[in-house]
Amino acid sequence: MSAEHNIISVSGGKDSTALLLLAIERGAENLQAVFADTGHEHAQTYEYVQYLNDRVFPIRTIKADFSARIAAKAAFVATKWREQGIPEAKVLRALAVMKPTGNPFLDLCVWKGRFPSTKARFCSEELKRNPIIEQVQRPLLSVGEDVVSWQGVRRDESENRRNLPERECKDVDADTGAELWNYRPILDWTVDDVFAMHRKHGVEPNPLYRQGMGRVGCMPCIHARKDELLEIGLRFPEEIDRVMRWEQIVGEASKRDMATFFATAQLAGPQATSDSADISLERHGVWQAIEWAKTSRGGWQYDIFRVEGEQEGVALCTSIYGLCE
Ligand code: SF4
Repeated sequence: MSAEHNIISVSGGKDSTALLLLAIERGAENLQAVFADTGHEHAQTYEYVQYLNDRVFPIRTIKADFSARIAAKAAFVATKWREQGIPEAKVLRALAVMKPTGNPFLDLCVWKGRFPSTKARFCSEELKRNPIIEQVQRPLLSVGEDVVSWQGVRRDESENRRNLPERECKDVDADTGAELWNYRPILDWTVDDVFAMHRKHGVEPNPLYRQGMGRVGCMPCIHARKDELLEIGLRFPEEIDRVMRWEQIVGEASKRDMATFFATAQLAGPQATSDSADISLERHGVWQAIEWAKTSRGGWQYDIFRVEGEQEGVALCTSIYGLCE
């Protein structure tokens, strides 16, 4: 008879922490807590995950590995780009950065030759969902073990979460018949309920919530709100400097010779452009987005990072899996 394995993806945010505490309270059998490290988290989130590991429950860290896909892309660049007549200097520049760094977020972007965006949200899937499926869920399903994937989503976060079912069977392994279920036990919780769960167990929330962050995740997330971006720029300039260095590297891996962390068509005010010939890191790089975040409503008032239909002050990642907070 197959056993049931309860899997929780811990992001370091409040909802997945509350979910983990709930699962422990309920004595969920064969419980596993997994942290999918994007390589783009704030140092305080890494410390917080360690705190949860030491104080609450053992947490297994997993990472996506893009080395095979970067190698295939490098082979493509070395042959196809040259056949297409791409200048040799550009080919050599791209090949020089097409080497895995071991940082999943950066390697993903080097492989893609671009950053994710609010319209091309491949980051959550590639950095969190797929590694959890491949490294945690599939190995269990393939030997006939049922998996229950606990998801820390709440109805009041966004419209697309409002009507989610509490339980649903997502997959059945064709060979073993083992089942993968999604389970969302905090769907009807409020933010207050989530923090109350922390207090009940004497567990501190991620300290970033006390430093102006409405959400905890990548630093910054592609869905960062204008006010969050301002806070990040003021409090954590080293993170913005890191992203600025990544813009340089990813740009060198790009056929366009340019990659900005935030989509340039979304940059508000006079910087906005969809014309690739008009894009520059000086005018559209991540520090420029921080400069824009400093502006009040007025000439640059268009709020570029707000996802349509989302509420003020709530998490903006639209993943229904709750993998990003
Ligand atoms: S936190 Fe944001 S940037 Fe990071 S994987 Fe999730 S959606 Fe992408």
